Amino acid sequence: MDTSNEHVHCLIIGSGPAGYTAAIYAARANLKPVLYQGIQPGGQLTITTEVENYPGYPDGVQGPEMMVEFEKQAKRMGTDIRYGLVTEVDFSVRPFRVLVDEEKWITADAVIVATGASAQWLGLESEQRLNGYGVSACAVCDGFFFKGKEVCIVGGGDTAAEEALYLSKLCSVVHMFVRRDELRASKIMQQRVLNTSNIKLYWNTEVDEILGDDKVEAVRIKNNKTGEKQVIPVSAYFVAIGHKPNSDILKGWIDMDESGYVITVPGTTKTNIEGVFVAGDLQDRIYRQAVTAAGSGCMAALDAERYLSLLEHLAHSESITHENS
Ligand code: NAP
Repeated sequence: MDTSNEHVHCLIIGSGPAGYTAAIYAARANLKPVLYQGIQPGGQLTITTEVENYPGYPDGVQGPEMMVEFEKQAKRMGTDIRYGLVTEVDFSVRPFRVLVDEEKWITADAVIVATGASAQWLGLESEQRLNGYGVSACAVCDGFFFKGKEVCIVGGGDTAAEEALYLSKLCSVVHMFVRRDELRASKIMQQRVLNTSNIKLYWNTEVDEILGDDKVEAVRIKNNKTGEKQVIPVSAYFVAIGHKPNSDILKGWIDMDESGYVITVPGTTKTNIEGVFVAGDLQDRIYRQAVTAAGSGCMAALDAERYLSLLEHLAHSESITHENS
């Protein structure tokens, strides 16, 4: 274990729109931010396709390309961006202590956590067993391997719709399993899905099992109204049923709801621990958009800047009192 105790003024954990925006603001406020990117630099947008709803890109932009631009901007402002995963935190002391890659402790005066959220799974044993062998939570990453094949996708939200459309351009048929009799996706995405001839929708349908010994060969589905089961031959199974917040490292320190979303002081990015701020999907179960994540990243940097100024002011007053006594 590396015990050299590096100290940083403002530490940012996470590299999605929230983390990078926090870094841009923190660097411009001269907080000398150090940002650890985590295992998926750029976050969820690096596994998406076209982003059409982020203002400032009138012709749309590819998610990975947009995150490269966020990173460049944060770097240009002076952020120290590092590849590394924060594996533990200790908020019982000040400065706070944070363990990186399970080997290096660093201390920080203020911490902004923007670790986002990760894909959820149905929880089938076969999802784990065949993961990487036709089972995937990222159509954009893995769709290419199933060019011209029949595939399936579970989910009815915007992500599932977006991924089904992506797959429909590569694969011969996309079987889309929706557990209710309607899609949760926005109207425009619903229309696109319904107007795509090689996306076959199955309403009131749940996946019972993924079949195949060492790769996906079929799925067994069940109609949850009639109980009728059916086996559909497919080469790949994609899941797109939402995400869960990446808040495990904060457990025991930071207040969160039953799903693991961090609870903030309303209208701010402040947590129950003064000096620890959160931004992005980690604290947002409702909007979960790149633009709202970026907005909350900005708020976190402004909150951190005020907190650090106060801290400096107090330290300064204390040293004057000390000198005069
Ligand atoms: P979501 O909106 O929460 O949708 C999840 C979908 O998965 C729903 O259809 C849900 O069904 C289904 N589902 C959940 N658990 C399931 C289970 N155990 N078995 C079967 N189906 C299950 O998640 P999302 O699609 O990832 O989107 C998250 C947020 O990002 C949303 O606010 C969305 O608008 C946004 N987003 C926007 C864009 C865009 O604008 N370009 C793209 C992607 C995502 P029920 O409807 O029955 O609950």
